[in-house]
Amino acid sequence: MKKAPTRLEREHMSKVASLGCLVCQRPANVHHIRPVGLGIGMRSGHYQTIPLCYDHHQGQFSIHNCKEQFEAMYGTEEELLHRTLKEIKNIEQVNNFFNLKGENNG
Ligand SMILES: [Zn+2]
Ligand SMILES: [Zn+2]
Repeated sequence: MKKAPTRLEREHMSKVASLGCLVCQRPANVHHIRPVGLGIGMRSGHYQTIPLCYDHHQGQFSIHNCKEQFEAMYGTEEELLHRTLKEIKNIEQVNNFFNLKGENNG
């Protein structure tokens, strides 16, 4: 059974997708990474998601179909997750900066 994401999780995932594919920057969907320690078929939380385009997500040489080669070329799921979260944090810092400025005007 898939657990439905909460509102915050949905917002987080739309931020992840909006980053674009980690490999080629094309429009992306989110991929749920599978951290070591979870059983086969277990999904990690909706915060453990990374953006990948169709080709890199489910295409012939994608993280789903060629995981070993994919991780050898682009990094492990955990590394890609750290990169994703860092990029989102950078964007949020910029947004907060502009929000603060807006409040002063108003
Ligand atoms: Zn891609
Ligand atoms: Zn996936």
